[in-house]
Amino acid sequence: AGGAVRIGVTGVPGAGKSTFIEAIGNMVVSLRHKLAVLAIDPSSERSGGSILGDKTRMESICNNPSVFVRPSPSAGSLGGVARKTRETIVLCEAAGFDVVFIETVGVGQSETAVQISGAGDELQGIKRGIMEMADLMVITKADGENIHKAELAQTQFQGALRLFPMPESGWRPKVYTSSAVAKTGLEEVWKGVEEYLDHIQKNGYFQHNRNRQNKYWMYESINEVLRNSFYRDPAVEARIGEYEKRVLEDKISSFIAAKELLDIYFKDTRTLE
Ligand code: GDP
Repeated sequence: AGGAVRIGVTGVPGAGKSTFIEAIGNMVVSLRHKLAVLAIDPSSERSGGSILGDKTRMESICNNPSVFVRPSPSAGSLGGVARKTRETIVLCEAAGFDVVFIETVGVGQSETAVQISGAGDELQGIKRGIMEMADLMVITKADGENIHKAELAQTQFQGALRLFPMPESGWRPKVYTSSAVAKTGLEEVWKGVEEYLDHIQKNGYFQHNRNRQNKYWMYESINEVLRNSFYRDPAVEARIGEYEKRVLEDKISSFIAAKELLDIYFKDTRTLE
């Protein structure tokens, strides 16, 4: 595992992510790649990511033996969903899938259910953080009467991106227009992905970033086990409600409550030993 192209696709609901992934996915499969499509919804912690899960059907590629489509993991905390998705990525790679799409609604984006395509206030609409994170940007739905607006948006975004400092990868993101319906722009986007990969493989950023992700996940895995061990500890479970109540009633400070609960936990685990 570890060698696949991992492509995170983010955008507000309705932006056209699923349709785009399906269209470019068909093209990528025709280039003899094995494709996995996973979905994660970091914004719906409570529903466990069901928004994307229900929708990501990708009917035209689902039956292809070279394609694996998995909707969002349906349970667990945000960290749990992210970890399960990561484990699935690694499993898919080990199973020979060399292109992995991860569809996600960006954090804080699901509330702003606007359609991105078209000119105007979009530059304010899109989150700065997303722009800084993106390696490629695609203006979707560039078809019919929308073509002109999409091209205008492309010019605007390309201009705006030039104002950001050069990313760590040394790659300045490019902006594309595409239509999943008219099947236009897909080859260009895929070529952009290949150019980007080539660039970061040559300058070492690819490996650097993978190593950093591995380090991050080592700590995340530790944190999750510790967290679960704490919250599932019988002595903690027996007392935590009462502490929560006292914090809510302003009878004890949150720090003292936390410290006392941790003391209970450590004392309990020591007794168990
Ligand atoms: P997601 O929520 O970002 O995954 O968006 P979807 O892929 O579900 O698409 C949202 C809506 O936009 C659907 O009604 C699609 O049919 C429509 N749509 C998606 N891609 C295109 C496109 O390239 N052109 C046009 N005209 N409509 C599209």
